[in-house]
Amino acid sequence: MRLILLGPPGAGKGVQAEMLKKRYNIPHISTGDMLREEIANKTSLGEKAQEYVKEGKLVPDDIVIKMVEERLKKDDAKNGFLFDGYPRTINQAIALDKLLEKMNIFIDKVINLEVKEDIILKRLTTRRICSLCGAIYNLLTMRPKVDNVCDKCGGELYQRNDDKEEVIKDRLKTYYLQTSPLVEYYKNKVISVDAGREKEETFENIVAKLKEQK
Ligand code: AMP
Repeated sequence: MRLILLGPPGAGKGVQAEMLKKRYNIPHISTGDMLREEIANKTSLGEKAQEYVKEGKLVPDDIVIKMVEERLKKDDAKNGFLFDGYPRTINQAIALDKLLEKMNIFIDKVINLEVKEDIILKRLTTRRICSLCGAIYNLLTMRPKVDNVCDKCGGELYQRNDDKEEVIKDRLKTYYLQTSPLVEYYKNKVISVDAGREKEETFENIVAKLKEQK
């Protein structure tokens, strides 16, 4: 199974990706997570990406494309993968097509998560992330058992800098301008799912549609 998850920030891509990863036993490749890790480790790539991520702007295509190319060489991606947050521009999609063609593989389905803007804003401003394992929580709908502490690993929870309201608006603008045209680009492979529902319901809808369209 080779999948792409599309959708605005706050659509629940990260949460759905973790569930899909377990169901289909494929690696979850999140360029956002990879970039945050590079930034935390203060690598040269991280230094180049830092300002863009902080301001909710897209990191230049050449940096992200190269990072993904390296990631796809790893063994765990040989039998399938799930992209979350990549591609995010038409340029990145064209680069991915070329890369996959060279590898003689192709994308099976593109899952487009649809959600209204008021839900996005509410979800993102209340989202919290584990500083150790990256697990995602929400102060309204997915609270940890103990305040500020990750249920899975005990790590401290934090709010992403780009989950502040001023930055969210810019990320949404970027999404509508640069990323949403990908729905048309992938139109023959797109499965659209209402992602404004509970995470389990959205997940079951995705799985049902993937089965239907096999
Ligand atoms: P995400 O975790 O997917 O919301 O990504 C967080 C931030 O990382 C984005 O706002 C961008 O600054 C950067 N980023 C993640 N994926 C990409 C990508 N495919 N192209 C460019 N920038 C990206």
